[in-house]
Amino acid sequence: MTETDLFEVVNPATEEVITTVELAGLAETDAAVARARAAFDTWRRVAPADRARLLRSFAAAVDADREHLAALEVANAGHTIGNARWEAGNARDVIEYYAAAPERLLGRQIPVSGGIDVTFQEPIGVVGVIVPWNFPMPIAAWALAPALAAGNTVIVKPAELTPLTALRLGELALQAGIPEGVLQILPGRGPVVGQRFVTHPDVRKVVFTGSTRVGKEIMAGCAAQVKPVTLELGGKSANIVFADADLARAAATAPYAVFDNAGQDCCARSRILVEASVFEDFLALLEPAVRGVRVGDPTDEKTEMGPLISAAHRARVSSYVPDGSAVAFRGSAPDGPGFWYPPTVLAPVRHDDRAFIEEIFGPVVAVVPFRDEQDALRIANATEYGLSGSIWTRDVGRALRVSRGVDAGNLSVNSHSSVRYTTPFGGFKQSGLGRELGPDALDAFTQTKNVFISTEE
Ligand code: NAD
Repeated sequence: MTETDLFEVVNPATEEVITTVELAGLAETDAAVARARAAFDTWRRVAPADRARLLRSFAAAVDADREHLAALEVANAGHTIGNARWEAGNARDVIEYYAAAPERLLGRQIPVSGGIDVTFQEPIGVVGVIVPWNFPMPIAAWALAPALAAGNTVIVKPAELTPLTALRLGELALQAGIPEGVLQILPGRGPVVGQRFVTHPDVRKVVFTGSTRVGKEIMAGCAAQVKPVTLELGGKSANIVFADADLARAAATAPYAVFDNAGQDCCARSRILVEASVFEDFLALLEPAVRGVRVGDPTDEKTEMGPLISAAHRARVSSYVPDGSAVAFRGSAPDGPGFWYPPTVLAPVRHDDRAFIEEIFGPVVAVVPFRDEQDALRIANATEYGLSGSIWTRDVGRALRVSRGVDAGNLSVNSHSSVRYTTPFGGFKQSGLGRELGPDALDAFTQTKNVFISTEE
């Protein structure tokens, strides 16, 4: 092989090197695109029922390998074993859900004069998927499953830091009978392999999940070839707590809405907005909840939060909490090896503090008061992002008004759930473009063809 370099994959909870992975260079990327292009001609013509059967076999293979996949993610990404099991199950569910799609990609028949008019949902071609390190398994599955179901071929580039579960998914697909070249996993550097997806004319669609900065570069690069993109980018989501809410529940759940996955979650509710009349009461309830978050060994079933992904990322997260910051209270974190950072609550916080404006992507949350509904919406929407958010109130009318008023793609009322594989997921504003999951994702991997057939004699 030429142009390859070796990357040491590190366990973020122990700082030990787990294994070494070869990163592809440009020549390997071009060869993978050529294989995917060749495979597209046959894969798109596989009968819908057969494509469905192959995807069901793939889902079954993932199901049988769930414990192994979960253990890989615990070691590679420091995810808690509970989370990692959920993620492996989510990958299976997503593949199974889209296994139903090949036989249901319906077109339309549109009334016209002089003949009949029908539409087809055609695949796009080779799809390049660029995955970040924070949820390596689900994010790969959310793109590859609907893309394959619609008849595209796929190359997944995992993040440099976390290639192991994606590589395993690739092996499982082959074991399940998905033909060679239809799904390839290509570990590599973003500016090399990822960038080649953007510039290679035979990659006809790019799916990118990651930082807003890189997402903008990808979108600009894809414009040169009018290449469609799906972008899932950053977030700075609001958790809005009204005085009439079940305050105890809102406070007990708020830590998990931001500290889950050590805050490395684009949907993290990293700004808590609390109605001024209950601000102190809420903080008093929040403190024991934050101190109670179990941070430690991710292999321990009782652990609720693991380490950050890397030393560099920990340094970035720490930079948002310089000495002298208004830390209201903190949870704990282990000493010794591992990229640990304790759950941290900032209050009071100015609205122009960078910790209140920028995505920290770590276990740091800022709590601020608001006066009334209008004030809550003003603060919630005063951000370039718009990914998710939560609204806590017992007033149904207000729940709906505020849900409609928050400029974000995924909202939950009296709950913090953002992701279900059956419902659409994606961002407003600079949080992204396009929708993944649910029925919507298939639109991102098909293009409509219109055919008119004359019936004139
Ligand atoms: P990142 O943008 O640096 O990297 C993401 C992926 O892009 C990696 O695979 C990386 O190798 C690749 N990449 C980097 N530079 C590239 C380039 N020039 N061309 C092509 N590909 C390139 O982000 P990260 O540090 O891995 O992930 C953290 C960020 O991702 C956070 O800001 C977070 O908000 C965002 N994120 C968003 C979502 C979402 O669904 N909205 C999900 C996960 C992460």
